[in-house]
Amino acid sequence: MTPVRVRFAPSPTGRTHLASGRTALYNYLLARQTGGQFILRIEDTDQKRYVPGSEQELMDSLRWLGLEWDEGPDVGGPYAPYYQTGRREIYQQYARQLIEQGQAFYCFCTPDRLEKVRQAQQQRKETPHYDGFCRNLDPGEAARRVANGERHVVRFKMPKDGSITVRDRLRGDITVENAMLDDSVLIKSDGLAVYHLAAMVDDQLMGITHVFRGSEWLSTFPLHGHIIRAFGWTPPEFVHLSILLKPSGKGKMSKRDTAAAMQDGHSIYIKDLRDLGYTPEGVVNWIALMGWSYDDAAEFFTMPDLIEKFSIEHLNPSPAAINFTKLDYFNGLHIRALPVDELARRIQPYLPEGDLATLQKIAPIIRERLVTLDDAPQWAGFFFRETVTPSVADLTPKGMTPAEGAAVARKCLSIIESLPNVSHETAEPPLRALVEETGLSAGQVFGILRVAVTGQTVSPPLFESMAIIGKEKVVERVRQAIGLLEQLG
Ligand code: GLU
Repeated sequence: MTPVRVRFAPSPTGRTHLASGRTALYNYLLARQTGGQFILRIEDTDQKRYVPGSEQELMDSLRWLGLEWDEGPDVGGPYAPYYQTGRREIYQQYARQLIEQGQAFYCFCTPDRLEKVRQAQQQRKETPHYDGFCRNLDPGEAARRVANGERHVVRFKMPKDGSITVRDRLRGDITVENAMLDDSVLIKSDGLAVYHLAAMVDDQLMGITHVFRGSEWLSTFPLHGHIIRAFGWTPPEFVHLSILLKPSGKGKMSKRDTAAAMQDGHSIYIKDLRDLGYTPEGVVNWIALMGWSYDDAAEFFTMPDLIEKFSIEHLNPSPAAINFTKLDYFNGLHIRALPVDELARRIQPYLPEGDLATLQKIAPIIRERLVTLDDAPQWAGFFFRETVTPSVADLTPKGMTPAEGAAVARKCLSIIESLPNVSHETAEPPLRALVEETGLSAGQVFGILRVAVTGQTVSPPLFESMAIIGKEKVVERVRQAIGLLEQLG
């Protein structure tokens, strides 16, 4: 396999969405699979849309997912700088080349004039486009006006006839009549290049072989083809990824849908998913399958699996609905796949009072029940509390009075006290015998014990939990429960 050079090129204009995570992931997979390079390039030329802090969130999110880049703004590399505002002169030089070749021109139209043109076109029911006012200015005069400091932009001089064909790996050839295309701005009046020029120049200079990007770029793809052709470059392979839709599959996620997902304990932002207790393994598996599949059956993928199995051919250009139920499912699978030591380490931040040795004992008995890591306190908090505070209602099994409950609890207590220690092996046989002897159900007897020991009606397996808590504390908790029941009995 030929090593690829791929880049993830986000704009720092807001929070890091799972769609960005997915684009970065596919880049990373192809780079690692082929022994190539994965580059992070920050496309920050649109200063108006710049959101402070978004680069940091982006880098933190990528690293949390496990997507380390080989070259980028913080790690450097042979093509630095990797943020586009640091490359302003490079783009200007390439824009000048296009002007010299007669394939771009200086435009001095004021925003005011352009607005009037746009309104007139709208009235005539035309698609808004540049009317070509400065297209044929004398180059010498244009250069003089620029030298005089007149406000200007640089526009691409779109050929009036003919057509262009660009190729997307997933959709094949796309041919557009040039007459349909605009004289797009390449350099803005602030001297900074727009995406269309900056990205094409950087991809060329940085030796990019494959471009994975969102399908919102399909509409300007012909312009990109023109720019690449004007410079005489060989285009990289373009892969426009599928659009992500809201869970219902009807349209894109709106602000309201995003808020609703959050209410539900989910999120479309990578950092939130981390904070909500999702694992990077689960999130990676989930996003990998939004628009890619290995075959019809395989679902569980680790990063090494994905690096081995990923292929562009299996990407699907059709829109994919964001399915949060699947996220929970994958997260559960990956939690269960973690080695016990690792799981113990991952749940520790949620149970700060828990020591690692005890957490290692707890991890195997709660892992089946965890959807997210932050479910851990609900399943394991009682191990670390000095005392538990069960309610009398919970302690009293259905069909029994508190006094009857107290009597059963006393019998349990004396059995437990007589044991050398509490474990499944030592405690289960005598307590089962007690169930037989009393004629009550196992649910009633063990229910009292469960609530007494854990303080809750649902818990990890009872005997295993008691073994971890230890005889002394178990005895103490059962005594306390008896006291509570007796007060009412
Ligand atoms: N800066 C563009 C964006 O954030 C990147 C598109 C590309 O990867 O070329 O959408």
